[in-house]
Amino acid sequence: MPHTRPLSDRYGRVATDLRVSLTDRCNLRCSYCMPAEGLDWLPDDSVLTDDEVVRLIRIGVELLGIREVRFTGGEPLVRRGLVDIVRRTHEIDPTVETSLTTNALGLVRVADALAAAGLDRVNVSLDSIRRETFHAITRRDRLQDVLDGLAAARDAGLGPVKVNAVLMRGQNDDQAAELLRWAIAEGYQLRFIEQMPLDAQHVWNREQMVTADEIFERLESEFDLEPAAEPRGSAPAELFRVDGGPATVGVIASVTRPFCGDCDRVRLTADGQVRNCLFAREESDLRTALRAGASDEVIADRWVVAMRGKRAGHGIDDPSFLQPDRPMSAIGG
Ligand code: SF4
Repeated sequence: MPHTRPLSDRYGRVATDLRVSLTDRCNLRCSYCMPAEGLDWLPDDSVLTDDEVVRLIRIGVELLGIREVRFTGGEPLVRRGLVDIVRRTHEIDPTVETSLTTNALGLVRVADALAAAGLDRVNVSLDSIRRETFHAITRRDRLQDVLDGLAAARDAGLGPVKVNAVLMRGQNDDQAAELLRWAIAEGYQLRFIEQMPLDAQHVWNREQMVTADEIFERLESEFDLEPAAEPRGSAPAELFRVDGGPATVGVIASVTRPFCGDCDRVRLTADGQVRNCLFAREESDLRTALRAGASDEVIADRWVVAMRGKRAGHGIDDPSFLQPDRPMSAIGG
């Protein structure tokens, strides 16, 4: 019987939710994430193969107590082997919840295949339902493809379908109520996310960020919000019942209302590095050991050590805060 051990840190938190970035590439150019010309992508030979990704997930599930796996990017739908990786992950342990964070471009083509492969649900990033605003933020005129992808996910049973929206001051922060009205009508769970200092350009500015308080202000001009009954646990989103429910809306206030105390997340980058926090400044390399023929036990031990160094929180409010070198597009949601 393999020797299982928890991914615990010095603060007693245990990571059971694994976020796997399958690529740093993306087919959108969101202004708060990367420059219009894109980035220097990871060298192909540094990116984990499908077999390597599945092996690390298996080690996480079988030896380290991982109970949730979220596939992210960049944009995971651009990864050719995605459906197969999902199927093989599901086969490791069908009781492990699997999900996907995506911009939904092309989801209309693979939603059924992902559901058949065992994917449980999707989170779709969408900041506006206005064509011109979507185009301005993403630098691509692809709103209809996203809406089609969302509908396909709902029809394929990949629910509850969650929509993550970032409000940008002067761009779409006047559209919060409109987005919520639309999400309720479509049956999607909307969550607003405070913009985090993880952009590739390193131009994040706290004054420019739309805070949770401002988000509530904008929503409460039209809706009655009350805290949802269900306990939050380690979930990033604070949930609120809208107009007495059953519809809810979430706010993920990473900057102004951090939730690090209950964090149960650990991340694996597309090039095989463990990040014990979204804002970690150090990473632990598993790829080299993997390719050097290390055993599952050795890799598991290295992963456990990586978690021991996890800091209490992201430290954005500390004067000493330094934005990580690796951008959000190469870490994943
Ligand atoms: S910032 Fe780091 S510690 Fe805090 S919730 Fe996010 S991943 Fe967890």
